[in-house]
Amino acid sequence: MIRFEQVTKRYPDGTVAVDDLSFEVGRGELVTLVGPSGCGKTTTMKMVNRLVEPSSGRVLVDGEDIAGTDPVRLRRRMGYVIQQVGLFPHKTVLDNTATVPLLLGESRAVARKRAAELLELVGLDPARYGGRYPDQLSGGQRQRVGVARALAADPPVLLMDEPFGAVDPVVREHLQTEFLRLQAEVRKTVLFVTHDIEEAVRLGDRIAVYGSGRIEQFDSPARVLGAPATPYVADFVGADRGLKRLSVTPIAPGDLEQPPVVSLDDPLERAAARLRADGARWAVVLDGSGALHGWISASATGTAASGAGASGPGASGAAATVREHARRMDAWLPLGAPLKQAFATMLQYDAGWIAVLDGDRFAGVLTPTRLHEALRRSIATDEADSPHTPVTLATVADA
Ligand code: ADP
Ligand code: MG
Repeated sequence: MIRFEQVTKRYPDGTVAVDDLSFEVGRGELVTLVGPSGCGKTTTMKMVNRLVEPSSGRVLVDGEDIAGTDPVRLRRRMGYVIQQVGLFPHKTVLDNTATVPLLLGESRAVARKRAAELLELVGLDPARYGGRYPDQLSGGQRQRVGVARALAADPPVLLMDEPFGAVDPVVREHLQTEFLRLQAEVRKTVLFVTHDIEEAVRLGDRIAVYGSGRIEQFDSPARVLGAPATPYVADFVGADRGLKRLSVTPIAPGDLEQPPVVSLDDPLERAAARLRADGARWAVVLDGSGALHGWISASATGTAASGAGASGPGASGAAATVREHARRMDAWLPLGAPLKQAFATMLQYDAGWIAVLDGDRFAGVLTPTRLHEALRRSIATDEADSPHTPVTLATVADA
């Protein structure tokens, strides 16, 4: 969709801002450009909408060399969001958002209706905020209006230059979350500039890590963090990159262990036999509808089972079921949740494992060992990522 071919930009004063740059952004892909100040990120972005012209090399959009494209026509296909937002101070939020559709010749009514929808989409109630002026908004709200306005003409491409750079960390995280939700819905081709590695790995499908005027690594977040291509990248992503990697690696079905599973209404004897057969110390307990209830330890089943003939307190004979001895399990997560959340949940509940659900269905458990293996896998599978990945027998058997 966006393709750089050996692009160099030398400014008139001799500064080489971008040096022989080649990369490609696929349709619907979100690529973050990350690097320290002055490394050429903004210059790269401005060459996509022709605010800056390359000194040599070509930039193609949709296969077309944009050197021959009328800049105005080109920019209509690209929403542009910058840190200073550039809202018109004397126009209301609704009119600011409606600017582009009006420019494109929409009627006032249609443009305003579209603007209201977009404000809704970025989480601003148009009834409440539409009539306000930019200086009556918080920094985070102004950035949302900036995003809404960039989306107003429904452009296939979004160029975002440090759009959340000026807001405090808490608001920034909100904006990132909202933007990911939005992007899942609108699937634009996005070039997103940031100097913040956390933001880059959180948002990017792929990341371009900039050194001085050059890309040092262009890769998935997991691989940039897990297998930095150069010492420069390793240094840039930081010594805590392992921790960061936890937040970009989702829990996958293959990461899970399958402990024995028993049902709440199973007789205790049967649960005990099941645990003995597996040599397991505990089993997962599901309720009648197959939803997670909790767990039961081997000792709980064993004590009751061996004590069934004797007269212990609570030994109520043949009627004993798992229900009386099961414990609730609150440490669970959905499949696809980041490993970081899994780790945090283990710590929060002081649990040696957590349950993982696929919708309402119990899918397996994640243990610290499996979590570690999943982290390693996140590098390996990206490496082998190809449409020809063979379907393994295990996958077929599981289905
Ligand atoms: P970034 O966005 O990564 O901070 P920029 O692309 O803005 O970096 O700048 C890259 C380099 O080009 C810097 O050294 C900057 O000073 C220089 N530069 C940017 N714009 C101009 C310009 N109009 N004239 C001369 N040098 C410039
Ligand atoms: Mg910049």
